[in-house]
Amino acid sequence: MADFSFFSKFLFPELCFGCRADLDDSRVLCSDCFARIGKFRTLFCGKCRARLPLARKICHRDFPYILGAATSYGNEVVKKLIYSLKFKSLSSAAEPLTKILCDYSEGIFSDINIKKFTVVPVPLAPSRLKERGFNQSEIIAGGLARHFKLELNKNVLIRTRETKPQSEQNHFESRFENVRGCFLAKKEMLTGTKGIVLIDDVTTSGATFLEASTALKEAGVRRIIALSVAMA
Ligand SMILES: [Zn+2]
Ligand SMILES: [Zn+2]
Repeated sequence: MADFSFFSKFLFPELCFGCRADLDDSRVLCSDCFARIGKFRTLFCGKCRARLPLARKICHRDFPYILGAATSYGNEVVKKLIYSLKFKSLSSAAEPLTKILCDYSEGIFSDINIKKFTVVPVPLAPSRLKERGFNQSEIIAGGLARHFKLELNKNVLIRTRETKPQSEQNHFESRFENVRGCFLAKKEMLTGTKGIVLIDDVTTSGATFLEASTALKEAGVRRIIALSVAMA
C-alpha cells in the first residue's frame, strides 16, 4: 500500500492518545500522559501471578518462566497504543511501549544478573506476519535489547504450525489449546546463553508464554524471564 503518512500528518496533525493535545512531532503521547502511566515494580510468578519483590523467592519453582509485566492492559492509553501498533500499523506507537517496558525493566533487572541473556521476541504466526508486515514484539524486543546492550535473536524460536489469533479465543482453555506445541526452539543457536528474556506485547492467559518457554526449556535454556508490556 502507498505511504500516505506525510499527507495524513498534514491533514490530521497527531493528537496525544491520552489528553488529545496537539503534538507537533511524530509522537503519539505527550510527556505528561506518558509519565502518568502506572508501572508495576515487581516480577510475578508465571503460574499464580503472585508478586515477587525478590526474584529469588519464587513460589512455583517448577514453572518454566518468571513473568515480568510493565503495566496493566486495563490502562486505556496502553490499550490504545497496542491496538494502534498491531491493527493500524502505527509504528510510532512502538516507541512509548518500548520505553514503558525499558523503564520497568530497569527496576527488575537490578535484582537479576542478565549479562549473557538473549532477548527473543515471540514469533507471529506466518499468516499474521504476512497480513501485518511486521512483528510488533520484535520491534519492542529490538528496542529493549539495544537499551540493555543484550543480544537479540529473532530466529531461535519458530512457529511450527498456524494458530488462530489468541484474541479470538474466548475461553481460557481454548487459548491453551490453540497454541499447544506450536513453538520450536533451535538448540544449536542457544550455546553460550545464560538465559532468555522472552518478549511479547500483551499477556492474558499466559498460554503463549508457557508454550514458548516450554520449547526453550526443551532446548536446554535454564532461566526464562517472560516480559510483556501489558498484563491483562
Ligand atoms: Zn497527553
Ligand atoms: Zn506462584
